[in-house]
Amino acid sequence: MLGKELLDVLCCPVCRGDLFYAKEVSELHCKKCRLAYAVKDDIAVMLVEEARKLDDSK
Ligand SMILES: [Zn+2]
Repeated sequence: MLGKELLDVLCCPVCRGDLFYAKEVSELHCKKCRLAYAVKDDIAVMLVEEARKLDDSK
């Protein structure tokens, strides 16, 4: 579980925008870029190469 302080300082490496923490999937989501950054062992993997594309084209 990520602390709120950590979450506050994290931003999307692409657009520098705010990230939304998706608890259920342990990912940080950037709604703008539609990218999901994984959180592994409480460490956010802020690498664009590692990010997953969010598919919300439903
Ligand atoms: Zn972004």
